[in-house]
Amino acid sequence: MSRLAGIDVGGTKCLGVVIDDEGHLLQQTRLPTPYGGDALVATLAELAGQLEPYDSLGIGIPGLVTNEGILRAAPNIGGIADTPVGPRLRERLGHSVEVDNDGTCAAVAEWKLGAARGAKDIIMVTLGTGIGGGIIAGNRLQRGANGFAGEIGHMLVDPNGPDCPCGRRGCWERFASGSALGWLARRAASEGRLAGVVPPDGDIHEIRPETLTQAAREGNSSAVAVLDEFAKWVAVGLVNLTNILDPAMFVLGGGLAELGSLLHGPASRWFRELLYQPHLRPHPQLVIAELGERAGAYGAAILPTVHT
Ligand SMILES: [Zn+2]
Repeated sequence: MSRLAGIDVGGTKCLGVVIDDEGHLLQQTRLPTPYGGDALVATLAELAGQLEPYDSLGIGIPGLVTNEGILRAAPNIGGIADTPVGPRLRERLGHSVEVDNDGTCAAVAEWKLGAARGAKDIIMVTLGTGIGGGIIAGNRLQRGANGFAGEIGHMLVDPNGPDCPCGRRGCWERFASGSALGWLARRAASEGRLAGVVPPDGDIHEIRPETLTQAAREGNSSAVAVLDEFAKWVAVGLVNLTNILDPAMFVLGGGLAELGSLLHGPASRWFRELLYQPHLRPHPQLVIAELGERAGAYGAAILPTVHT
C-alpha cells in the first residue's frame, strides 16, 4: 500500500495529509501559512518532513502555477509571487514534487475519491470567498498549454463590472462567490430592495452573506429575490462552461455549496433558461462535493498518480 503525501496551502494554514491508494487518511498535520516565497518553501519542506515516510508528494497552492511548478502569482497569499516552489523543493528534498493550483487539486480529489468517482467529464466549482475550479475532460486532467487551465473564477462576465483582486473588472467571482453574495445584498439594501432584512437604522455595510441566507431560509421574499439574482450569476458561469466544455457533471464545493436547495433550485432554473439549445441536450448534473476542506490536500496527494 502506497503512502501518498499531499499539502494544501491555504490563506491562513497549510494542511498536510498522508493517504493510502484508496483515500484513507493515515496522517494529518498543519502549520500556519507564512509571509513570503522563501518562508513558504521552508514551511512546505518542514511539513514534508513531518509527513515522512511517503512514496510521493504533491502540493496545491491558490494561484497561477506553471507546468514546471513555478508559482507565478498568488493574490490571496501575502508577499508571494514568482516563486519556483516545485524546483526549489525538489532540490531541497531530493525527490520529485508535483505542484498545481488548489482548485485543480480539489477537482482531482472529487474525481478520484469523491462525488465524481467514475465520471469522465467534470468541472469542479469551489464557491468560497472567490471561485476556484478544475477541469477533467475526456477522463484527463486539463492543465492547458502552461498549467493555467481551470481559472474559472476569472472568467470575464462584465468588463464594466466591479473590481476584482486580480486587477481586472467583472470577473465571474465578483458576482457569484461568497463575497459577491454580500455585495449583491448590500447593493439591494442601498436601493431599498431588502425590506425586513436590515433594521431601518441598521448599517448596510454590516450585511454579511449569512445575514441574507438566514433571512432567505426564514422565507423573507426580498432576501429570496437577492438569492435568485445571485443564482442567476452562478448559472451564467455554469452555462458558459457548459457551452464550451459540455461536462456531464458540475461538482459544487466551498461554503456556498452548503446552501443546498436554496441555491440549487434557482440556479438550475436559470441554467435551463440561459443554456444554448437547452431542449436538445442532456443537462449536466449539479452535485455537491463530498470531501470538504480536505479536498485540496487529498487531491495534491494523488496528483502525482494522475500526471502520467
Ligand atoms: Zn479576477
